[in-house]
Amino acid sequence: MTRFSASKSVRSWGGVLQAPHNVARPGWRSELQRLVLSGRQEGYVLLASGLRRSYGDSGLNPEGGLIDMTGLDRMIALDPASRLMRVEAGTSFDAILKVIVRQGFFLPVTPGTRFVTVGGAIANDVHGKNHHRHGTIGCWVRRLGLVRSDGQELELTPDDASGLFQATIGGLGLTGIITWAEIELIPIQSAMIDAENIPFGDVDEFFSLATESEDDYDYTVSWIDCLSSGERLGRGIFTRGNHASTGSPLPDKGNTRLTMPVSLPGLAMNRYSISAFNALYFWNGQRKSGPLRTGLHPFFYPLDSIGRWNRMYGRKGMYQYQSVVPPAVQKDATRDMLKAISASGQGSFLAVLKTFGHVPSPGLLSFPSPGTTLALDFPNHGDVTLKLMARLDAIVREAGGRLYPAKDGRMSAEMFQAGYPAWQDFAKHVDAGFNSHFWKRVSQA
Ligand SMILES: Cc1cc2nc3c(=O)[nH]c(=O)nc-3n(C[C@H](O)[C@H](O)[C@H](O)COP(=O)(O)OP(=O)(O)OC[C@H]3O[C@@H](n4cnc5c(N)ncnc54)[C@H](O)[C@@H]3O)c2cc1C
Repeated sequence: MTRFSASKSVRSWGGVLQAPHNVARPGWRSELQRLVLSGRQEGYVLLASGLRRSYGDSGLNPEGGLIDMTGLDRMIALDPASRLMRVEAGTSFDAILKVIVRQGFFLPVTPGTRFVTVGGAIANDVHGKNHHRHGTIGCWVRRLGLVRSDGQELELTPDDASGLFQATIGGLGLTGIITWAEIELIPIQSAMIDAENIPFGDVDEFFSLATESEDDYDYTVSWIDCLSSGERLGRGIFTRGNHASTGSPLPDKGNTRLTMPVSLPGLAMNRYSISAFNALYFWNGQRKSGPLRTGLHPFFYPLDSIGRWNRMYGRKGMYQYQSVVPPAVQKDATRDMLKAISASGQGSFLAVLKTFGHVPSPGLLSFPSPGTTLALDFPNHGDVTLKLMARLDAIVREAGGRLYPAKDGRMSAEMFQAGYPAWQDFAKHVDAGFNSHFWKRVSQA
């Protein structure tokens, strides 16, 4: 019988916050209801967790009961005719891809790592390089199971009139525990991607490339040199691609041609090493620009080939900052953020710029909205890092944008509430038996 046991230190991907939790890892769906009730009887406020790839504190619940869902990882059904796949919520995208690609299917939406669970992906309503075409994962969820803190298991569909489905998509685990989900897959003809890398000299060129690529490419994303300045502000490498119509149907094992070589041993995280790396990476991108045919792993998951790369930030960890700003102000706001980052000398080689499209998500708290998203890591240097992020907050707020809870570990309640006007509607669906460090912080009046 699975029980909660004390764990001294649970950390998220960014590693800034580490805290004791009471963790239980069920192996059977039939155990969940009893586990939830016993956790409540022991006085724990609960939260589900997946593969802990969220950077900040949305997946942490210090001193509470954390239900680690990674033991519930069975695939239940796949109907090739309707393309509907049903899996347990702890199943990873990695495990799913190993099965579905060779059967001619792919995930409709995938984030930049395949080491996420289905439950975690739904709870953050993740987006990928194809947001402009496919929206978020929540747009593809057709049905899910949800266990509430009273032990009841509900089955929810997008036409759910109570609003609980909409609150659970992007609901940060606060509406209950997703036990399984049914997701519509997309068909593919091969396991290859026809990609193209195009260096660009500044932010304006990025926006021209994004506009030019939207209609013809399913996937677009850019790496940017966040420390470049002046005429080179926002220079980078634009990558776009489509599933190839010919080529091997078998997935590659992770051999790479587009990987960022960031696992340099003993690399010091300072402006000189980052500038040097970025210059080298940009130069290399220029040298290797043009069309190429590549496998799924190097195209979608270049960072996964480096294992636990988050450890290179050392014991103090790192913050990730991901914002989205609306189309009308996206150019100026992006430029202002890049200027602030470049002037501060902080930042990393993991800086990504992408335009989101207009496909609406069913999720009440879903992060993506039309406009431009900028995501980058900041090594945790204490006050100077917090000060820089406060400056970025001001730009994002002025622009009418918002930050991504999956990446956040410090935004203020005001910032969250301004960015997510539906948060009070959402709050009505929060199950009082569930909470997180993030929610306690941002839901204060
Ligand atoms: C290298 C890297 C690249 C990334 N790229 C992207 C990207 O391109 N796009 C993007 O959107 N995100 C991206 N992310 C973030 C990542 O996709 C999300 O944080 C994802 O939700 C993590 O899934 P997980 O299984 O690790 O969930 P966790 O981090 O463990 O949990 C995430 C949230 O889901 C809740 N949760 C987990 N399981 C359940 C469940 N069964 N029922 C209810 N709630 C649950 C938790 O309480 C928590 O609130 C990236 C992260 C990394 C490390």
